[in-house]
Order: sequence, then C-alpha cells, then structure tokens
Amino acid sequence: MRGGGAIPPTPTLPRKGGGSKGRSASARPPFSSSPSSTSPSPLAGEGRGGGNPAAAAPTCPACRKPPSLCVCAAIAPIATRAELVILQHPQEQDHALGTAFLAHRQFKNSRLVVGLSWPSLAAALARPSAEPRRWGVLYLGPLKPAGPLRVLSVVDAHGAPLADQDHFLAALDGVVLLDGSWSQAKALWWRNPWLLKLRRLVLAPPRPSLYGALRKEPRGDSVSTIEAAAYCLAALADDAALAERALAPLRLLLARNGAAAPARRPDRRRHVHR
Ligand SMILES: [Zn+2]
Repeated sequence: MRGGGAIPPTPTLPRKGGGSKGRSASARPPFSSSPSSTSPSPLAGEGRGGGNPAAAAPTCPACRKPPSLCVCAAIAPIATRAELVILQHPQEQDHALGTAFLAHRQFKNSRLVVGLSWPSLAAALARPSAEPRRWGVLYLGPLKPAGPLRVLSVVDAHGAPLADQDHFLAALDGVVLLDGSWSQAKALWWRNPWLLKLRRLVLAPPRPSLYGALRKEPRGDSVSTIEAAAYCLAALADDAALAERALAPLRLLLARNGAAAPARRPDRRRHVHR
C-alpha cells in the first residue's frame, strides 16, 4: 500500500473478469462458520499457497497458525466504536506470518472477507445499505499529507489533508483495510471502484513495524495489517494504549517465529500489509 521501490511481479489472479463475490470469513464468531471459506492454508509458511494436500499441516482453528506459532494466549478481543473491515486478496490467506485474521480476532467489531471484488461497500459489509462517506479506506499510494504528521489523517483525492481532521475522523463508522502484497492490494483497489467514495486515510505509524528485520521493507512506514488496524482504531478512539494491547498477538507471533526452526522464515515478498 505504500508506494515506491520495486513492485513484485503481478500475481496470477485466480479469477478472471472480476465479479467474484467476496467470501465472508467473518460472521461472528469469527472462526465458526463455513470452514471452506477461509480455511487455513495447508501450505502455511510456504509462501503462496497452492492447495497441495500433501503439504497439509495442522493449524490452530482459533488463530489459524501452526501449533508452534499459536498465539491464542495473546488474543484478547477489544471492543471499539469504529468498525474494522479487512478485504483480503484470495492469495494472501496462506502466510504463516500473516496478521489479517489475528486483527479480526483481536477486534470485536471487525469483519474479514476474502475476495477480489464486491459491488459496493454495503455488499462488502453484507448489509442492506452503507454510507460510504462515513467510512475510510487506508489510501494506496505514496502520497503523504503535508504538514504536521498525525498517526491517521483524512486526505482528499490529491493527498492533501482535509481541513477539520477531528471532525472527519469522528464521523467515521469504520475503516477498510486491504490485505495483500502491494500488487494484490492494488488489484483490490482497482477492482472495487466504490472504494473511491470512501474517505481516504493515510497512516503514519508511530514506529517502525514490529516485523523489523523479518521483512524487507523498502520504507520504514510499511506495517503489517494488524499494526495498521491497531493504529487506525487507536487513533479513532484517541487511545494510544489500545494499539499496544491490540498488538499482543503479533508480538507473540514474532517471538514464537523467532524461536521456531530457521526453515520458518517468512518469504521475502514485499508486503504492504499482512
Ligand atoms: Zn491458536
């Protein structure tokens, strides 16, 4: 989602022509419904999942991590006024160190949907109607708001911060995040033109990603999906401590990953959010 630097090869999209109905992963409780919708990849830890059953490995049903990386002990769902909706590219489901599902588990008022396109915000929310101007989407691109950096800014189509930030942020019902590599997130952006109707949000993370050296990030402001969610919702709640609580599962995941066999290194794809 952050621009600049090399763009990885365009992924092969599993469906042509768009129109895939987003598969909802998320009716709460988050992991009890339709196991086929976002069932964990048998290839967790192998980079892109291809569905090779021979490589099937057990994953924890509650956090969708391999047993050695289970972070359930750190999950403590947080209630927020603002809603979180994560649109996940279908090819992004399979990473051992992915964080979208953890973000979904960690925020009570959240929804994780997998797909390439939805006809409208309401469709992505699975509601009869929704007011796009009361929602924000984390902006895809290199634009940085001018002036003093806030953790979360509302910008116009040219990246300029709107005049009354507090007013616009307070008016938001929720935030949409795109989960995938840079190119996958870009594909989601272009396949869902209704995103242009949402308020554009720019995140200036208060510190570098906790992934640190695990991820080769060309820029210091790329963060994982759970970090983006935590900083957005903390900013909307004006509660910086909320972000710290929200990131507990990520800290545990990284600690467990560090303790695991070297073979479980993440792939080196450049990621925007995962
Ligand atoms: Zn678990």
